[in-house]
Amino acid sequence: MLERDSWACVCCGGSVTGQPYTLQYRKPRSQGGDNSPANLITVLGDRYGGCHLRINSRVDPWDEARGLTLSPHQDPLLVPVTLFGEGGPGVTVWPTADGRWVTEAPAGAARVSVAGYREGMPSTAQIYKICPPDLISARI
Ligand SMILES: [Zn+2]
Repeated sequence: MLERDSWACVCCGGSVTGQPYTLQYRKPRSQGGDNSPANLITVLGDRYGGCHLRINSRVDPWDEARGLTLSPHQDPLLVPVTLFGEGGPGVTVWPTADGRWVTEAPAGAARVSVAGYREGMPSTAQIYKICPPDLISARI
């Protein structure tokens, strides 16, 4: 997962090298989420702070819109993730069962108009406002 995610937080793009980080469950284990690569994303922080805590607390609707969190009925393979990008939302990608990101939707995926899907997604500045890097290290 770390290689797929370039050793950076999928949410805010911060490097996880030398930082506390977690492989976060998009669908929580309590809701049937498993350890498959498609269900795991690299994020900064742990249960005490950083992106991990923020995403787990389900306070930011954009986490769901970006595919960082999933509902119990959703299949991680069929819901795309919008990666962090400089200057706005990054690339929208689908996870593969063998642990890669691909830009083409798999068969059976809900039809996603990538442009529409990304409309209104937070800019880099807004993402940093939500999970500022210094707050992450200050909290941990
Ligand atoms: Zn982050």
